[in-house]
Amino acid sequence: MRGDRKCILDSKQYNYCPHCNHDNPNETWRYLFCSENCREIYKILEDWTGKKISSDDAKQKLVLHELPSLDQIQPSLRKNIEDINASAQTILTNRIVEEKPKRRGRKKKTIVNED
Ligand SMILES: [Zn+2]
Repeated sequence: MRGDRKCILDSKQYNYCPHCNHDNPNETWRYLFCSENCREIYKILEDWTGKKISSDDAKQKLVLHELPSLDQIQPSLRKNIEDINASAQTILTNRIVEEKPKRRGRKKKTIVNED
């Protein structure tokens, strides 16, 4: 079938023919994604891996979107979502703990040199 594509987020098969859609130059994302939803989720993950947003921010943005079921999502992206979920949960817990002013001498954040 012509225009047969596979979404890079959730591997969904879809059709997109750039020739039929030349009226919509704003929809070039359709080359990669089956839906705007997938595009937005991907953007969040991209911002997160590029450290533009925190896990907490990423999680808050992700919940606003309809997330495809995890086993549909490409493994590397799925790993990102799992990591976000894991670290964002920690932040959530910290917030609750923060209400109690009991704080034991926490380890100072150490900056790890990354190459
Ligand atoms: Zn998709």
